[in-house]
Amino acid sequence: MDKELRVRFAPSPTGPFHIGGARSALFNWLLARKEGGKFILRIEDTDLERSTRESEENIKEALRWLGIDWDEGVDVGGPYGPYRQTERLGLYREYTDKLLAAGRAYHCYCSEEELEAERQELTAKGETPRYLGRCRSLTDADRARFAAEGRKATVRFKVPENRQIIFNDLVRGTVSFESNGIGDFVIVKSDGIPVYNYAVVLDDALMRVTHVIRAEEHLSNTPRQILVYQALGLPLPEFGHISLILGKDRTKMSKRHGATSVEQYRNLGYLPGALVNFLALLGWAPEGEEEIFSREELIEKFSLDRVAKNSAVFDVDKLNWLNAHY
Ligand code: GLU
Repeated sequence: MDKELRVRFAPSPTGPFHIGGARSALFNWLLARKEGGKFILRIEDTDLERSTRESEENIKEALRWLGIDWDEGVDVGGPYGPYRQTERLGLYREYTDKLLAAGRAYHCYCSEEELEAERQELTAKGETPRYLGRCRSLTDADRARFAAEGRKATVRFKVPENRQIIFNDLVRGTVSFESNGIGDFVIVKSDGIPVYNYAVVLDDALMRVTHVIRAEEHLSNTPRQILVYQALGLPLPEFGHISLILGKDRTKMSKRHGATSVEQYRNLGYLPGALVNFLALLGWAPEGEEEIFSREELIEKFSLDRVAKNSAVFDVDKLNWLNAHY
């Protein structure tokens, strides 16, 4: 590889640390250790109502217990910190000013009621609900009037029309989206806090992340993120989206299926090595029949080529078997 591989795990500290998050962290970590790259831990705490320090501590504690150590990031620092998004607001503001000045973003004064009415109108017509750009061409006088009425502005990204966004997903292959279905989306809320789809781009670019490996639920966010990279002239990373984890009944793994957080498995007495072995095999399979691997063997064998497109099924019997044999 010609440039250093840099990956990240970027949890939102909003609740118990789900095993799906642990698997994303593990795949990134295995890749970094295998390639001699860097693994970054970034805390995405821009959801001020739901983020807590307790949840952040819980995630870090769980990662340490699993033996997933980070080279850069919250607590350990590094050249591109701080690594908690709420401590990077000044940085995001600089880029928002650039987008506004270049006409690639604009202030939107629409109220929640107006937005809801628009969504309902489009839905009734059988169209995808999206923002149709009412505030795209406001004059200074309009803005002054809205401000005098006490309306607060969000910042919206101006989505270019008729653009096809195509990328090669390292797990899923070629993926393509049309920009017309997206609609101008909010990048900064009216309280000045950036939203995930925006902050994540700036952070991944500024932290020189080369590979964004994350859960499949973010696949539909990727075109929005790519448009922001392009508008700012930032280099795109590689993307890879790992499939969902399903319960044995093939529905999305949830509390109904039993324990879902790392902490629960820890409290139930599972060995961290067995859980790491099990999580590694959720959606990834090395060549051969063997199933029990040490951490070193996992690092040596791991590769994204063998990460499956299909959903992985969480089989607790297999975890129990691994735990008994580890
Ligand atoms: N904070 C996001 C999450 O926890 C991160 C998604 C990403 O990796 O880009 O889902």
